[in-house]
Amino acid sequence: MKEILAINGGEKTVNENFVWPVYDETDVNAVAEVVRSGKWGNPDCEDLVAKFEKEFAEMCGTKYALTCVNGSVALRLALIACGVKPGDEVIVPPYTFIATTSIVLEANCVPVFVDIEPDTYNINPVGIEKAITEKTKAIIPVHFAGQSCNMDAIMAISKKYNLKVIEDACHAHGAEYKGMKLGSIGDVGCFSFQSSKNLTSGEGGIITTNDEKLYDMMNSLRNVGRVKGGQWYEHHNLGCNYRITQMQAVLLSNQLKRLGEQTQRRHNNGTYLNSLLEKIDGITPLARGLGETLHSYHIYIFKYDKSKFNNLPKVEFSKMLAAEGVPCFMGYPQPLYKQPLFLEKNFMCYAIPSEVDYSKVCCPVAEKACYEEAVWIFQNTMLGEKEDMDKFAEAITKIQKAVLS
Ligand SMILES: *Cc1c(COP(=O)(O)O)cnc(C)c1O
Repeated sequence: MKEILAINGGEKTVNENFVWPVYDETDVNAVAEVVRSGKWGNPDCEDLVAKFEKEFAEMCGTKYALTCVNGSVALRLALIACGVKPGDEVIVPPYTFIATTSIVLEANCVPVFVDIEPDTYNINPVGIEKAITEKTKAIIPVHFAGQSCNMDAIMAISKKYNLKVIEDACHAHGAEYKGMKLGSIGDVGCFSFQSSKNLTSGEGGIITTNDEKLYDMMNSLRNVGRVKGGQWYEHHNLGCNYRITQMQAVLLSNQLKRLGEQTQRRHNNGTYLNSLLEKIDGITPLARGLGETLHSYHIYIFKYDKSKFNNLPKVEFSKMLAAEGVPCFMGYPQPLYKQPLFLEKNFMCYAIPSEVDYSKVCCPVAEKACYEEAVWIFQNTMLGEKEDMDKFAEAITKIQKAVLS
């Protein structure tokens, strides 16, 4: 018998309340202690910031880690420190958060969009190689949803053409590719601590690298152009104040203790949910087994085929699934090059060559993902129990039965 869908007043399939952020009294006390100490930030004290940077670098397996105000600024400082010049081209995917590409414009460089792979939604290395010109200086692969990009292929291309690789690891704290932490493979790795991310202090970011020169430059840019050994009012580079506070750092240190266990839990639940959803006609989880030894599932993504759901559009399906109690969302409504920012070239004071025309860009895989296919389930649900995953699959089956009958 067909059940009444929750969207039509029936019972919800999932009744769990998935919390985020996760915290307890140890977080509260750690922050309270800093508040009481009166040592909140630069210039008198940055010991807790330095401590967290050391801990994050250790977790990530890099020599250096440098905090900053957010993930966008992390990417911005990384790109500028890589030595790009106005008019240089930077290869980016179209299926990502706007910051991956807007920071390229802010560096007076040209974002060049390369389509994603249909089975992972990560940037396609074959497309990268085709897009390289004399002006190409860097690639920003995004480990989308926490699934590693094909880093062997991307690093090989970067060596062949002498390009910098900036990993956008804003979805990938603690995730791995062939046993290496994401953010430790390219020249620089960038992470966000914004409130939705897998490690958070409300806002914040961090940059990882093994390259001392890049580290020194990014440190200077973060710190108003000051340099090691220089005077307080001595400014060498065009930077700004992008530092975080001691309250953020101490919270991050405490949160970091949970990251390993949480990442493993998301990985396990995501893997289990794949095994359930791949049995449903018209639902395809993204591909696995492509080197991602640990998937951080910042987003759990599956592909939806409306032809198996009586042609119910994805947007309607996502709403029905959310009503069933599965925290989910249709994802990006369009690839980035379709945003007014790019179509209208509202680039403010930044100097992009006039011949650049984003209305001509077409990345069919990203378009299909946005318009038809991709459904996102939020990361905190992946911290749930195995039974919750069973319920998610049940909710999808319930919708399918209802729309087909
Ligand atoms: C969140 C995010 C960013 C930017 O991070 P903020 O801290 O919000 O500035 C960049 N890239 C991706 C893929 C993100 O998800």
